[in-house]
Amino acid sequence: MASGNATETVLSVKGLSKTFVTKRGFPNPVTVTVRAVDDVSFAVRAGEAFGLVGESGCGKSTTGRALLRLIEPDRGAVTYRGQDVLAASGAELRALRRKLQIVFQDPYASLNPRRGIGETLAEPMRVHKMGDRAQIAERVKSLLAEVGLPPSAADKYPHEFSGGQRQRIGIARALSVDPELIVADEPVSALDVSIQAQVLLLLRDLQARRGLSYVFVAHDLGVVRFFCQSVAVMYLGRIVESGPVEEVFNQPAHPYTTVLRQASPVPDPRAKSIAVRIEGEVPSAANPPQGCHFHPRCPNAMPVCKTVYPAWTQLTPTRGVACHLHTPAGS
Ligand code: SF4
Repeated sequence: MASGNATETVLSVKGLSKTFVTKRGFPNPVTVTVRAVDDVSFAVRAGEAFGLVGESGCGKSTTGRALLRLIEPDRGAVTYRGQDVLAASGAELRALRRKLQIVFQDPYASLNPRRGIGETLAEPMRVHKMGDRAQIAERVKSLLAEVGLPPSAADKYPHEFSGGQRQRIGIARALSVDPELIVADEPVSALDVSIQAQVLLLLRDLQARRGLSYVFVAHDLGVVRFFCQSVAVMYLGRIVESGPVEEVFNQPAHPYTTVLRQASPVPDPRAKSIAVRIEGEVPSAANPPQGCHFHPRCPNAMPVCKTVYPAWTQLTPTRGVACHLHTPAGS
């Protein structure tokens, strides 16, 4: 069942920031502050899959978790259909948690090995008082069917399933409370390539059938290009470019997007795709370079890039970039 107007913004994220303070080093540890998510803003429309892409450690997973408050952000605003997610508490927060669900990267780690699948799927429905025992048992069966598993799966345990089947169970668990938006955090990156395509096609089928919106976190451009309608490219905690997927990947405005695309040229996950691998190491988020964080790796770097972080430039109503190549007079 599709719902909502496709141009309507359902999720709005503004200025989201999250800093972690940790101790590093042995035998004399020092306190290190890491800006994992730094002033991140984007909007997700009803029924769309919005991709967050970038190399490992760019802050994309932390962004996905912070907007659901699985990690409490330090600053920013998150609104879902006009409701303030960060200010919600009590019954309001429980209702939001039902609408906003997450599918994790590692389905095995996210399933309790000692709990049967039927119980795993029934529990969220019991918590949200979604029916009596018989109704919930019936719904468990229909959820299993919806994700392509037989009713007998309800009586089994996680170790009795393959990786792809476990991810289907993870998806069924998220669907059990009838969510409207799912944060899919690297949902296929732990799976074999052939299984990745099946799970992506299932997620896409659910998007069409249930009118779901996704925030789709991935490091693989091919997967994002196949699955998402819009994308934000992240680097060291910040969004450096965003817009419609085909525009961003066909004509990248940011040099980082260009090198990401060159490192991952295959748009279809059914073909063998290549994970992001580009020249140079990602600098430490605990000590990002001055100016544009990408300048030590950027083939287009100019003197200004070493000292001034580029302002966000809106190229069109739906596309934006943070790069001095696109600011007036390279300022
Ligand atoms: Fe490269 Fe400068 Fe643009 Fe950064 S601001 S991406 S260093 S050209």
